[in-house]
Amino acid sequence: MPLHLEIVTSDATVFSGEVDMVTVPGAGGVMGILPRHAPVLSTLKPGELTVKVGGDELQFAIGGGFVDINNSKVIILADSAERSEDIDVSRAETARLRAEELLKNPPPNKEELFKLENALKRSQVRLHVAGHRRRGNRI
Ligand code: ATP
Repeated sequence: MPLHLEIVTSDATVFSGEVDMVTVPGAGGVMGILPRHAPVLSTLKPGELTVKVGGDELQFAIGGGFVDINNSKVIILADSAERSEDIDVSRAETARLRAEELLKNPPPNKEELFKLENALKRSQVRLHVAGHRRRGNRI
C-alpha cells in the first residue's frame, strides 16, 4: 500500500503522487513516514524533505509549515518548497550572505530577529539540498 503525498504552498502544488516513504523536518526532529502511519498533525521547521519512490530519492527544501498524516495520505502545507533541481544556488547564496551580514548587528526586536534567523536557515537548507543535486544524487 503506497503513501499518497501532496506538497502544497500558497502558490502551487509542488508534488502530488504515490510514494514509498517520506522524511520530513518535524519541529521535534526528523520524522520518517511509512504507509499506515498513525494520524498526525504537526509543525515543520525549515529543512530537507526526502521522498523515496521506486528505488529513487527526491529532495525538497521546505521553509517550514505543517504536515497532516491520515489514512496513508500525507499533506505538506509548506511556507515554501523547492525540488532540488529548481533551487537557484546563487540566489540562495546571496540570501545567506545578506542574512549573515544583517545578523552581525542583530535587531533588538525579537520578531525581526526570528525572521532574519529563519531567512538564514532557509538559505542554508536550499544550499544543502542543492548540494545533493551537485553530488549527482538526484533522479
Ligand atoms: P530571497 O531572499 O532570495 O527572496 P527568501 O527565503 O526570502 O529568499 P521565500 O520567501 O522563502 O524566499 O520564498 C519566496 C518564493 O521564492 C517561494 O516561491 C520560493 O520557493 C522561491 N525561492 C526563494 N529562494 C529560492 C531559490 N534560491 N531558488 C528557487 N526558488 C526560491
